[in-house]
Amino acid sequence: MSDDGSPAVRRLGNWDAEGLRALAEEHGTPLYVFDPARVRENCRRLRGAFPDAEVQYAAKAHTARRTLETVHDEGLAVECASAGEVRRALRAGVPGEDVTYTAVNPPAADLEYVVGAWRDHPDLTITAGAADTVDRLEERGFDGRLRLRVNPGVGAGHHEKVVTGGHPKFGVGLDRAPALAARIDESFAFAGIHAHAGSGISGDDLADHRELVRRMGELARDLEADGVPVETVDVGGGFGVPYREDDPALDLDAVADATREALGEIEGQLAVEPGRYVVADTGVLLTRVNTVKDAPETVVAGTDAGMTALLRPAMYDAFHAVRNLGRGGDRPVDADRETVGVTVAGPVCETADLLCENRPLPRPARGDLLAVGNAGAYGYEMASTYNSRPRPAEVTLAGEVLRRRETLADVSRLDAPGDSTPHSHEGEP
Ligand SMILES: *Cc1c(COP(=O)(O)O)cnc(C)c1O
Repeated sequence: MSDDGSPAVRRLGNWDAEGLRALAEEHGTPLYVFDPARVRENCRRLRGAFPDAEVQYAAKAHTARRTLETVHDEGLAVECASAGEVRRALRAGVPGEDVTYTAVNPPAADLEYVVGAWRDHPDLTITAGAADTVDRLEERGFDGRLRLRVNPGVGAGHHEKVVTGGHPKFGVGLDRAPALAARIDESFAFAGIHAHAGSGISGDDLADHRELVRRMGELARDLEADGVPVETVDVGGGFGVPYREDDPALDLDAVADATREALGEIEGQLAVEPGRYVVADTGVLLTRVNTVKDAPETVVAGTDAGMTALLRPAMYDAFHAVRNLGRGGDRPVDADRETVGVTVAGPVCETADLLCENRPLPRPARGDLLAVGNAGAYGYEMASTYNSRPRPAEVTLAGEVLRRRETLADVSRLDAPGDSTPHSHEGEP
C-alpha cells in the first residue's frame, strides 16, 4: 500500500470479469481496456516516493490524450521521443515548460517540428545525445533549453533489446560530456544532464541503477566545479513492473532511497522519467478465442489478437499474464474446466505470433474471452497493421472510446488512388 492507500500492483485477477465481458460485447475484440483512475494512483505513488524530484512520464508507453492529460493533472511532466509525441503533449494542454523532447538520431523533420514548437513554447527542453545533434539544432536557430544525454556505460533491463544505458547509440561518453556540456552552456540554456539505463529495473537490477546514478552525480559535481551549473540530473526511467502474477511489486521507496544515496549531494534537481510504471497495470487487452486445436504437445487457442495487437511477446519474449474469462453466463470458467497447457496464437502468419506458449490455463473453448494483463504500456503503442490487420479499439473501463477501432478501409487509406477501389460486397466491418 502507498500513502494514498492504493495497492502497489493491480493483478490481472483484480479486474472485474463481468465488466470486461460487457465491454467486449459492446465494442468487439480485440479491445484495449484502459483505467484512467489507476493512472492517477500510479502517479501519486511516484510523487510520494520522489517528493523533491521532477517526475516526467515517458509518453511513448501510452500516448492517448487522456493519459497525457491525467499524468499532467497529477503533476508529472512529459518526456517525448518524437515530434509526434511533442505534438500530442502540447495538444493535450501540457505547457512547454513541462515538455522534454529526447532526440535520438532525430530525423530532420522532427527537429524542424520541435524547433518550430519551441518558438511558440520557448520553455520546452530538448535533450541531445550527440555533438552532431547539437550542431543541427544550432543550424536551425535553436538556442533554448538543451539537456545533454550521457552514456553512463551501464545498462539495465529485462531483455537485451531494452538495455540502452551502455549502448553507443545512446548519449555521449562520460569522458566527452564535460566539453560538450561547456559548449552547450555557452550557446544554449544548459538544462542539465540525462541518462536512461534501459527498461526493467527490478530488485536484482538495483546495483546497475545505483552505479548509473552514482556516475551521474559525480559528473554533475565535476561540471559544477568547472563552473557549469547543472540544473537537472535526470536518471531516466525503466522502473519495472511485475509481469508474472507471482512477481513481487517493485519496492519504489527502496528505488528512491537507492537513487538519493547513490546520487550524493548535488546543486540541481533530480529527475526521473518512468513510462511503463505509470501505465502498465492500467490496461488489459481482450481477445476472443476463434479456433481450438488439440496438438500433441499443446492446446492451441487461436485468437483475434496477435503480434499486431500486442507485439511485446514476439519482440522481447515478454511474459504477459493471460486469464480466461469464459463466455459469461452463470458459471465462472475456472470452476469446471481442467487445466491444460495452452498456446495462445494470433491470426498472423508468423511463428512469433504467440501471446503465450504452453501456459497452464483452463481448457479454452471457442468463443471464450481472454484477458491479457499489463497491456497498458507499449501495448497499443506498438500495434501495427501488418497483414493488413486493423488496429484494435481502446476504451476506458467506463466504456468511453479513446481510440476507435480501425476499419479495413482505414488500413488502405494511404494507398494511391485506384489501388483501393471498393468492392460492392464491402461493408464497413
Ligand atoms: C523508454 C524511455 C523511458 C521509459 O522507460 P520505461 O521502461 O517505460 O520506464 C524513459 N526515458 C527514455 C529516454 C526512454 O527512451
